[in-house]
Formats: sequence, structure tokens, C-alpha cells
Amino acid sequence: MVSFSNSPGLDFSFSPVGETGKGVTVEINNQILMETAYFNGTFTPNSEIRISPDDRGFLFADGIYEVVRWYQGFFYDMEGHLTRLKRSMKEIRLNWPDQDSFPDVAMELINLNNLQDIPSLVYLQVTRGAAKRSHAFPSPAIDPTVYAFARSFRPQAEMIGMGLGAIMKKDTRWSRCDIKSISLLPNILSFQDAIDAGCYECIFVRDGMITECAHSNIFLVIDGILYTHPESEYVLSGITRKNVLRIARQEAIPVRETAVSESRLNEISEAFITNTSFEIAPVISINNISVGNGKPGPVTMLLRNKFHDDIALLKSDYRS
Ligand code: PLP
Repeated sequence: MVSFSNSPGLDFSFSPVGETGKGVTVEINNQILMETAYFNGTFTPNSEIRISPDDRGFLFADGIYEVVRWYQGFFYDMEGHLTRLKRSMKEIRLNWPDQDSFPDVAMELINLNNLQDIPSLVYLQVTRGAAKRSHAFPSPAIDPTVYAFARSFRPQAEMIGMGLGAIMKKDTRWSRCDIKSISLLPNILSFQDAIDAGCYECIFVRDGMITECAHSNIFLVIDGILYTHPESEYVLSGITRKNVLRIARQEAIPVRETAVSESRLNEISEAFITNTSFEIAPVISINNISVGNGKPGPVTMLLRNKFHDDIALLKSDYRS
């Protein structure tokens, strides 16, 4: 069976054959064909990559990942993504000697897959490599397993424009959410609960405080002040979060990097989530209760517009 995935959001979706003739990825029985990926130092057809069953990513989820967005001409804040990649590796004591090659690898994947003019995401994963199963790190150290691919995706403009519903659940994750670990089971289960409830994100609550979401950071507006959880071990330092804070400060929006209690839910006039693929997406209901008047609010829209102005500026810089 040949199928074309069109799943939304951070899942990657592909252009059907013939639609553009470019950036085409074909799936047969969920196998990715006709795609050039990066694997342990070489660019190779994705379908030919073989990963050991003893890879520690497979056995232990012993690895980290990064996702960067291609805006038809440039990667958004590649420097920020590279810094976070290095930090994640350092925190789990994982060494990829070629870590600084990530921007070049990402660019080469865009070129080799003819994605130059197509909105795309580059995914990179580094694991502690393949070794006889043991909790201890392999000794002597072995080479990591490094895998990266670039895929086109369709930004969900309509859904993001209208706003989305979220559920709220206890944060069942570990206490090092600042590391972009490939161990994502609690995120997956919570996100699926959201989908099953007809929503598109799960907001996490830890010890009564709102932290972040299954695959995004969250911002809340209360009495005209923009709140988001401070950087800590309970949230990922989102690249979009960082840039939204910068833009908010430029626009003189009062900002507090302070955790908000779930008991203040009825005081929230606006909410939005941020991540690399959604950029800024309004949240219009939480647990089926409208946020504010149930429409994207003015602070959210101002920040979305300014974020897009930034992108437009970067695009014109790239072209000139
Ligand atoms: N928080 C979590 C748990 C995430 O998985 C993500 C993105 O995948 C984010 C926040 C947002 O990070 P970024 O803006 O860098 O995409």
C-alpha cells in the first residue's frame, strides 16, 4: 500500500507525488523511500539505513534530539538550536565530536532533497551508540549513532489561526525536562489523550503549577501581563519561547517569567503555545472551557504578527 502522510503539527507531512515534483517523500507501508538522510557521517538513502537492535536509543531511549525549521532560505535561529543541542548532549554526557557540523548537515539535507523552496523541518537525533546491553555507559566509549532527515511539512495555518483546544493533565514526566531527550512516552500518552478528546495539546501541571505542554511551551495573559514558566528543570527552553519573550519585551508588553497556578485558570484572558512548527498558536479552550471570549486574543495576535515580521525581515536579508 502506498500512502502519503498528512498528519499535522510537529509530525512531518509530505507533498504528494506530482504536486510540486520537489521535496517528495513517498511512504510505502510506513517506510520512507526516495529520501536522502544523514547517518553516521554520510548522506544515504533513508531506506538503506540499518540501525543495530543494540543501539542504546532503541534499548534505553539513551539519546537526545533537535528540530529546526527551514523557512525557504534560512533556518530560524540555528544558533539557538545548536546551543541547545550541545547543552542536551553535555547534560547526558554524550559526545558527538562533529556536533558543530549540524548546520552544514541540515543545509545539505535541504539541498539533497530539493526542499529549498518548501517549508521543512530538519530532525537530528544522537544516541549513545550500539553496545551490549548494560545500564553503565559503554567502556571504552563508542561512537554515537547520529541520524538526521529533512522533510517538508504543511504549516497548519488555518487551525493555528483559529486557535486550538487543549486539555490539562498532571505532569508525569521526569524532572529534567530541560534536556531534549528522546524519551518521550509521557508526552506521547498525554498528547494522544488530547487528540482523543478532540483537542490539539496537553498542558502539564506539576505541584499545582502550569509548566509547559506535551510538545510546546505555554504563555498566559492575566490582567494584561504575559506569564510563562521560568527556565528550569521542569520545562524545555524553547527556541520559540525565547524569541517570543524577546519580541514581547521589544513591544513593551509586561512579561513575567513566573509559574502560574492552575487555580488561576478562570483569570486567564489569553493563552498561546509556542514551538518550532506552530510558531505561536492561540489556545481558545482548556478542558472544554473557553479561554477569554474563546477567540485568539490581542496580545497573541500582536506577537504572531511581530513574529512573522521578523521572519519576513530575515527572508529579505537572505534574498538581498
Ligand atoms: N516543550 C516541549 C516539551 C517540546 O517538545 C517543544 C518542542 O518540541 C517545546 C517546548 C518548544 O520548543 P521549540 O520552540 O524549541 O520548538
